Amino acid sequence: MNASPDCIFCKIVAGQIPSRKVYEDDDIYAFHDISPWAPVHFLVIPKLHIPSMAQVAAEHERLLGRMMTLAPQLALEQGCNPYPAGGFRIIANTGDEGGQEVHHLHLHVIGGPRPWARG
Ligand code: 5GP
Ligand code: ZN
Repeated sequence: MNASPDCIFCKIVAGQIPSRKVYEDDDIYAFHDISPWAPVHFLVIPKLHIPSMAQVAAEHERLLGRMMTLAPQLALEQGCNPYPAGGFRIIANTGDEGGQEVHHLHLHVIGGPRPWARG
């Protein structure tokens, strides 16, 4: 599950498709969603091409844990208000029936003052 040639998120990680970066380290990349639902809407992805949550295995525990602990920190940095009056949503659409359109695992982090465009 290394870079997949037709995957747009692998191309974003490689810099072949431009994106607005939120965060980057050796294993994780975060960037603003091109079509935001809310004042804050960014995606947190592993650089490794894992198609979805359905392929997650024990070897990914550390990576997924890191993504989940990073998301709240980045949410505040990006303008989500503090819990409990503020907050955010973390969504991982998985598979066609789960509403997944891009088959490279990603967490949506969505928040900021309401009203939102969707959700
Ligand atoms: P999914 O429906 O797979 O959970 O979400 C995919 C998300 O990726 C959508 O919210 C969509 O707006 C976003 N997206 C799709 N293509 C691009 C792109 O080229 N750049 C960025 N920044 N976001 C994208
Ligand atoms: Zn990919």
